[in-house]
Amino acid sequence: MYVQRLKENLPGVEERVAGALARAGRSDAVRVVAVTKGHPLDAIRAAVGLGLRDVGENRVQELDHKRSTLGPELEPELEPVWHLIGHLQRNKVRRALSLADWIHSVDSLRLAREVSSESVRAGVVTRVLVQVNMSGEETKGGFDAATADAGVAEVLQLPGLSCAGLMTMAPLTEDEAVIRRTFAATRQLLERTRAAGLQLGTELSMGMSGDYEIAIEEGSTMIRLGTVLFGERQ
Ligand SMILES: *Cc1c(COP(=O)(O)O)cnc(C)c1O
Repeated sequence: MYVQRLKENLPGVEERVAGALARAGRSDAVRVVAVTKGHPLDAIRAAVGLGLRDVGENRVQELDHKRSTLGPELEPELEPVWHLIGHLQRNKVRRALSLADWIHSVDSLRLAREVSSESVRAGVVTRVLVQVNMSGEETKGGFDAATADAGVAEVLQLPGLSCAGLMTMAPLTEDEAVIRRTFAATRQLLERTRAAGLQLGTELSMGMSGDYEIAIEEGSTMIRLGTVLFGERQ
């Protein structure tokens, strides 16, 4: 069922991605993170089978279950790159480090410090994105616009982290201009930080099913897609 669904949905998504890249005059590519939270293992099997190697989950427990179940089954070259995209509780950091190849949701200094110290303890460097909340919507996590510059700069000083870029979520609104401003503000923060000589990577994780074309037009390098690929979650 998931193979069928993905075969139906993926070409249209790829076409829209290509269209958005072209409108923005971009010649680079966008990484599609297939968000499989709330879907069974078959969604992941379908994704990797059709060449989508980046898989996103928003809870450590679900990631753990899916990764440990699928691991022994998949050929090593089909092993997904696992992205943790949801809010991470500090008491789950240690477990998350051994499960996630990317953590998109470093949304506070306290969490960043915990990921840093656990990484140092484990002797690893953890690839993270700093989550920012440029729209100020209260239900969204991340450094808010007023503190983001300083907050990102502080995270960048912590050992044990490789800060690959920024992540954001647009507010829940039909107003395209508001969504676009949120993405643009995130890109500008990345550009400002890099121009200041700080060690921040170039990744911008922005765009979900409802807004990924706008995100790409505003510079997204990673889109996190669930519903448009796999249908509604249970
Ligand atoms: C669930 C989720 C997504 C995917 O959402 P869709 O609208 O289904 O594409 C993307 N990012 C985060 C952080 C999520 O939690």
